[in-house]
Amino acid sequence: ILEIKNLKKSFGQNEVLKDIHMTVTSGEVISIIGSSGSGKSTLLRSINLLETPTSGEILYKGENVLTKGYDLNKYRTHLGMVFQSFNLFNNLNVLENVIVAQTTVLKRSRDLATTTALDNLKAVGMDSFINAKPGQLSGGQKQRVAIARALSMNPDLLLFDEPTSALDPEMVGEVLKTMKELADSGLTMVIVTHEMDFAREVSDRVIFMDQGVVAESGTPDQIFVHPKEARTKAFLTRFL
Ligand code: ATP
Ligand code: MG
Repeated sequence: ILEIKNLKKSFGQNEVLKDIHMTVTSGEVISIIGSSGSGKSTLLRSINLLETPTSGEILYKGENVLTKGYDLNKYRTHLGMVFQSFNLFNNLNVLENVIVAQTTVLKRSRDLATTTALDNLKAVGMDSFINAKPGQLSGGQKQRVAIARALSMNPDLLLFDEPTSALDPEMVGEVLKTMKELADSGLTMVIVTHEMDFAREVSDRVIFMDQGVVAESGTPDQIFVHPKEARTKAFLTRFL
């Protein structure tokens, strides 16, 4: 459903993405790993156009979304994003957090938005917290609400940027478990993560980024057990 060709992104003189190629097939789970500063977040933010790529193509269902006149707002509604920092509205309760974009962006009726929110909160095990404010929740609970909110937009593709790295260690497992369930349900997911065991267990494909390029990509077995590139090996030695 997504094909990225020759994607480049610079901030001033600093070329952060140098000619990225990547394909995401429907139902696929892709993990992106790599050192700090290698461009992982910039790649995700370029995919959902939180950053404007300097050049290249992003083909969504065969059409280049960077072509003048392409309906970017429509494109964005097909993508969901889960951030490290949750980005919930602290003044709204859990249920309202999951409803609001459905009624404003998708123009869903309040009834449908509520039913959808409750279904997804149930799926992430947060249906008993609908009246709580984010401030009353643990980090893991907040992240599960953020996932329910993203799911409620029925995205074709869900992007995760280090969804567990702001969490206390004891909260990481519950969020990874939720993500594994989503992966098993057939959702298309691209996940930037430092959780190597998770990446190995859940991904169909792993992409190793280094200094703004895809240095190596392959099955979890190819990347974690039989890496070909010296820089992949060096990275993994530092991490495992
Ligand atoms: P981390 O693992 O630490 O999250 P990352 O792989 O996600 O790292 P990016 O956040 O994509 O890395 O950053 C890649 C490079 O781009 C860094 O050198 C960073 O300083 C630079 N960069 C990112 N965003 C901006 C920005 N808005 N303005 C200028 N430079 C930026
Ligand atoms: Mg990052």
